[in-house]
Amino acid sequence: MWNRMTSYSESQLTETPVWECSKPDCPCWMRKSLTFVRQPKCPACGSEMTENKRMLPKLQNNPK
Ligand SMILES: [Zn+2]
Repeated sequence: MWNRMTSYSESQLTETPVWECSKPDCPCWMRKSLTFVRQPKCPACGSEMTENKRMLPKLQNNPK
């Protein structure tokens, strides 16, 4: 099924490991593949970040 409302094609979404801020009201998160420390701190509030997974568009490293 194709949805014209989405700018990314759904098939490109992949389960991606991320760090999420442990503070409930803080929306910060970052891709694990872009993080090089074992236990990052939230750049916004300084709280610890917890491991999670999100469905995200695949990172394309190659330019068009
Ligand atoms: Zn935070």
